[in-house]
Amino acid sequence: MAMAVEIPGSEYDAVAKLAQGVLIDYGFSMFPIDVFALARRLGANLIPYSSLSEEQRKKLSEKPAAEKGFTVARVRSDGSVVYDLYYNDSMTESACRYTVAHEIKHIVSGDALKSDGELTETDEQLADHFAKCLLAPQPIIITCGLCDLREYMKYFGLSYTAATYWWQTTEKRKSKYGDYCLFDHEKEFLKRLRQCTNITRAGQKRA
Ligand SMILES: [Zn+2]
Repeated sequence: MAMAVEIPGSEYDAVAKLAQGVLIDYGFSMFPIDVFALARRLGANLIPYSSLSEEQRKKLSEKPAAEKGFTVARVRSDGSVVYDLYYNDSMTESACRYTVAHEIKHIVSGDALKSDGELTETDEQLADHFAKCLLAPQPIIITCGLCDLREYMKYFGLSYTAATYWWQTTEKRKSKYGDYCLFDHEKEFLKRLRQCTNITRAGQKRA
């Protein structure tokens, strides 16, 4: 396991805003979100390890840091980019969801366009933070008054490990800023999310 690097809080905040922006822009307002559908909307081909040939899997086992998943960007002749998002589907459903959410950060922030070796430990830690912000946005946790990590698992499809970590982080935030404190950009996010939800509901009624 790599050593944790010190990242300024402002970078974590920027990543949280990025995750919220993705949810709004693509209209993913119902939780747990369908993170696989979101990845596809972002131009990703989802490739489970189980679909690979024996030979491809052997190559994979030699690739560093590929236990959970990784993304390869391909630039097509017309300049558009396709992302091959490989993930280890022998993991639990919640671990697969988390990995896909982590890889989405590498796609939306342009990390995936760097060549493999260029991803830094900072990129990886921020992608982990992004995954939690995307799957379980703190403004929702706070506004719904969720305070049990089992609720984090139930409502957001987080694994026990991810839920535990995110619960600790959120409780720390609550004791610093107050149980129901929301920042202005988070209030705005919730407002826009409600608008998305209304649109989705109206669409379902029409269908
Ligand atoms: Zn990564």
